[in-house]
Amino acid sequence: MCEAQGHQLVGGKFQVAQVDSCSPALPLCGMGSKKEEARRKRIHLHMEGTLTARDKVGVQDFVLLDAHTSESAFVDNLRQRFSKNLIYTYIGTLLVSVNPYQELGIYTVSQMELYQGVNFFELPPHVYAIADNAYRTMCSELNNHFILISGESGAGKTEASKKILQYFAVTCPMTGSLQIARDRLLLSTPVLEAFGNAKTLQNDNSSRFGKYMDIQFDFQGVPVGGHIIGYLIEKSRVVYQNEGERNFHVFYQLLAGGEAERLAYLGLQRDPQLYKYLSQGHCAKDTSINDKNDWKAVSSAFSVIDFNDADLESLFGIIGSVLHLGNICFEEDEQGCAIIPDTHEIKWIAKLLGVHPSVLLEALTHRKIEAKTEEVICPLTVALSVYARDAMAKAMYGRTFTWLVNKINSSLVNKDFTQKTGIGLLDIYGFEVFDKNGFEQFCINYCNEKLQQLLTERTLQAEQAEYEAEGIQWEPIQYFNNKIICDLVEERHKGIISILDEECIRPGPATDFSFLEKLEEKVGNHAHFQTRKLAGPKGRRRIGWMEFRLLHYAGEVTYCTKGFLEKNNDLLYRHLKEVLCSSKNSILRECFLVTELENRRRPPTVATQFKNSLSSLLEILISKEPSYIRCIKPNARKEPSKFDDFLIRHQIKYLGLMEHLRVRRAGFAYRRKYEHFLQRYKSLCPDTWPHWHGPPGEGVERLIRYIGYKPEEYKLGKTKIFIRFPRTLFATEDAFEF
Ligand code: ATP
Ligand code: MG
Repeated sequence: MCEAQGHQLVGGKFQVAQVDSCSPALPLCGMGSKKEEARRKRIHLHMEGTLTARDKVGVQDFVLLDAHTSESAFVDNLRQRFSKNLIYTYIGTLLVSVNPYQELGIYTVSQMELYQGVNFFELPPHVYAIADNAYRTMCSELNNHFILISGESGAGKTEASKKILQYFAVTCPMTGSLQIARDRLLLSTPVLEAFGNAKTLQNDNSSRFGKYMDIQFDFQGVPVGGHIIGYLIEKSRVVYQNEGERNFHVFYQLLAGGEAERLAYLGLQRDPQLYKYLSQGHCAKDTSINDKNDWKAVSSAFSVIDFNDADLESLFGIIGSVLHLGNICFEEDEQGCAIIPDTHEIKWIAKLLGVHPSVLLEALTHRKIEAKTEEVICPLTVALSVYARDAMAKAMYGRTFTWLVNKINSSLVNKDFTQKTGIGLLDIYGFEVFDKNGFEQFCINYCNEKLQQLLTERTLQAEQAEYEAEGIQWEPIQYFNNKIICDLVEERHKGIISILDEECIRPGPATDFSFLEKLEEKVGNHAHFQTRKLAGPKGRRRIGWMEFRLLHYAGEVTYCTKGFLEKNNDLLYRHLKEVLCSSKNSILRECFLVTELENRRRPPTVATQFKNSLSSLLEILISKEPSYIRCIKPNARKEPSKFDDFLIRHQIKYLGLMEHLRVRRAGFAYRRKYEHFLQRYKSLCPDTWPHWHGPPGEGVERLIRYIGYKPEEYKLGKTKIFIRFPRTLFATEDAFEF
């Protein structure tokens, strides 16, 4: 088996040393003839079944299943393959991946080399084939790509994106001075995961932020830099975790692995259970996670990504302060106002943030209110002080995360290269349904709804529209277009986000309940919306007083409106903001420097900011060539070899995989404009070589008649040739090469 020959790159903990010790990357163009020969031999062996004989299970491409494939046949094929640890299957060029929940030894350097520069369908399905295909098309057509990885929480999106990044790191040509760019790209992952991932019920390493990473290449295909965009980190986790869940990894990593002197400097103890912000989920110590080891990877990554000692001191000063903040207790004095009887934590925070303890104490227990001519300082109740404390922790963490992404970006920028192409990797939080779903799930599921729409539009809709436009005979295939749900959430003046924003700015006593009432009034009749008043068929889970239900493309989710207004407003009392602005901690000063303009204008709400950032993301994606990976979660217990039919059927349904299959099977694998097709292959036919002076369509007709395409292999549209099977094009390419 080939996997014995190479390195195993495990769970994204890909160290620089490991990259360096890998066999040198094969240059893509003009490969050394010996290596090329070895590679061809490997493929040959593979084709004979020697290397991966085990991939003779079921079909590797669902398109090859019986013409009238049922959902059961689809599931059967997936099950058969999964039982033999074959987790990847194609639907045409789309990759379906089932999380194996175990290391399979299929991510070795030899496997990478096997897939390098090989036509897509020549080898068994693999995430490397998707990566290689995007890379080669980018190199040959000099265009931009993106790989959209979707699926629910725990389905394997982040792992897939890490495998792709590792593939580029190992296989792309590399020049000495650019190794640092490659290393930084790779090592940004453990750092961002430490700060942005957490253990949830669904996933021990769940991404709690969305990540779009653009990997930039020069004209020779060398990775020269990158850029990361982070989306809406789940800040509420900093102050509260559900039973069985944890806060962000970095807190536990620092306590488990940080040097004794560093912890002493921060005033922290090793035991995470001593910190309220770390122990509410009752699993601060989790045997499945090795925080100490992970800390090692994160701290060595810091040095490669250009963090200096001052940055790290500020960064960990903030992490320490958040932990101390969580342990501040408030009591009530005789007037019913909040006081802090024990100032131990206040002193530590003041030291770490470089603020005066009495100023901090006042800001946590009082509020500045602007009267007509003067500022009045009012004491807060205990409940409001708790709110202020938590708001401060969330604001500090949230802005620090943004700072971190910017810092990583500045280390990934490469100004020396102006002519660049890129491959974008989108790994965003998966669709989530918990027993209790709040504002965060609403935003996450809305984001998934948008991505599903993009996929539907660019595959099912666009594909069918193109056949129609080109006059190709076509039996339309029905599919669910979730635009109706996106509109329900985002439509201006009418959608749920607009209604929420209105409630947030409305003068007077707006509450989470009045928001629900407004929803009932304005979208109550929508087919994808329900509340208690308008509950659907009996037998479903009851909808509570404070709840509404959305019928998402991926299933029903009942949201509790409690906290929606507060989280959407995301207010930090001005008093606290001033304290943070005056901090001597360099990161906080940078993050909280409030411009005059910001002071005067109300910033957009959280949901609106998120909506705007998603719409910019979609604009970026629409301009690029897509590849798709659809990840499937095999069971809800994070167990290997367990294939839960019910759960998998549900995912197949909502991911629209059957519709994809139908469109793909009835459709054409490749299409080329007549001009481009002719330009590339005209040398194969004496009639078109060296020049064809007639209409390009006629030239193509002559050309394919000459090289012998059979009628069932192609169709001629108004401006393009459509080729049904990949093998037809491969054969033409081969003829062209020799
Ligand atoms: P979320 O939306 O919560 O971020 P996700 O889709 O990103 O979820 P991952 O974190 O990629 O899910 O995967 C969850 C876990 O499943 C991983 O930590 C790993 O243990 C396992 N896993 C996923 N893909 C693979 C794989 N290809 N090989 C081995 N294990 C895997
Ligand atoms: Mg993830």
